[in-house]
Amino acid sequence: MNQYSLKHAQSLDAQDPLHKYRSQFAIPKQKNGEEHIYLCGNSLGLMPFKAQEYVNQEMEDWAKYGVEGHFHARHPWMPYHEFLTDKMAKVVGALPHEVVVMNSLTANLHLMMVSFYRPTAKRHKILIDYSPFPSDRYAVESQAKFHGYDAKESIIELQPSHGKETVDHEDIMATIEKHGDEIALIMIGGVNYYTGQLYPLAEITRAGHAKGCKVGFDLAHAAGNIDLQLHETGSDFAVWCTYKYLNSSPGSLSGCFVHERHADNPDMPRFAGWWGHDKSTRFLMGDDFTPMRGAEGWQLSNPPILPMAAMRASLELFEEAGMLALREKSLKMGDYMLSLLDHINSDKISIITPREHTRRGCQLSIQVKDADKSLFDKITEAGVIADWREPDVIRIAGAPLYNSYADCWRFVEVLEQELSNQ
Ligand SMILES: *Cc1c(COP(=O)(O)O)cnc(C)c1O
Repeated sequence: MNQYSLKHAQSLDAQDPLHKYRSQFAIPKQKNGEEHIYLCGNSLGLMPFKAQEYVNQEMEDWAKYGVEGHFHARHPWMPYHEFLTDKMAKVVGALPHEVVVMNSLTANLHLMMVSFYRPTAKRHKILIDYSPFPSDRYAVESQAKFHGYDAKESIIELQPSHGKETVDHEDIMATIEKHGDEIALIMIGGVNYYTGQLYPLAEITRAGHAKGCKVGFDLAHAAGNIDLQLHETGSDFAVWCTYKYLNSSPGSLSGCFVHERHADNPDMPRFAGWWGHDKSTRFLMGDDFTPMRGAEGWQLSNPPILPMAAMRASLELFEEAGMLALREKSLKMGDYMLSLLDHINSDKISIITPREHTRRGCQLSIQVKDADKSLFDKITEAGVIADWREPDVIRIAGAPLYNSYADCWRFVEVLEQELSNQ
């Protein structure tokens, strides 16, 4: 069979043990009734039908019980976040008490920096990703300013060498080696949102710790994408949102990891709230704050149940499918997508995402020559949902829970067609 045919794509789907999950998701439809080619799970994951059911359950229980739902709902609201913990810990490869679902991503990043960015005159710098997500840059710069430092002097940004689009591992290690003694915190993305580059998290952590730096990761583009081993990796903290690969509804809550080595340190500086207080005495409403052990001790508020209900539905699918199987399919689908893109052999586009399996996840970033957004607009009209990032990149991501090899094939066919019309 011709390996570039739709038939071949369909045969890959037929052999794919995860293909059965696609039918559990709502795939958005075009005006003509056909399904969109949805390659935007790196921005907003699709809705599992079960999420709707679980949210409805909580609405029913709210109607039925009012405040008593905290104890009498089918899934009582009082401990609701605990229903997510084990499954989320599996997704990121952590121990359950190292993980908590709370707040939103940027808020958690700030809370973690309150505890883990403790600058001194000699050591006040923060090493960040090359071209980080703007919110991360604003967060680290504002933390440096908050402590009285000039952000221009305190922030070191990784840089690619020799005109490359992505940062070589040696260059990261060399930067840590060179500036490590002045760096208070290394805070980079696990997968860069723009280039799709996956960083060597364990090596970065080891190198940072060897220099006396704290190390934290923003895993917005890595959680639910990469088979992370956060406990083994050893970083001090990590934060991630759950509405991208983890399909937990728009603007849903964030995940937060605090390594076990910090679990039993009640004196650690932190911004506290009542939900982080020891749950056995929380409702005594005492004056003295006693934090919960582990990541739960950083909680502030009683959390919103509805987005957590949606998250519970998605995390059940992740647990059933398994991160290893998802990662395996993601790499295979990425290889397949790359082979199709190579085959159209156009000089108007190039892939800036590294090709090695150790350096990418689900996302491929397609750079368009001459920064022309019209190509993106055309493929959108033809039914593709991807995204455009200024100045010149189309990001696509095949999410292994619901994307198919046929989606990849249809996308490349649309792209080829529109490239030839340009
Ligand atoms: C998506 C994303 C964010 C978004 O932050 P919110 O606080 O959830 O709005 C921040 N940082 C990175 C790296 C992201 O990919």
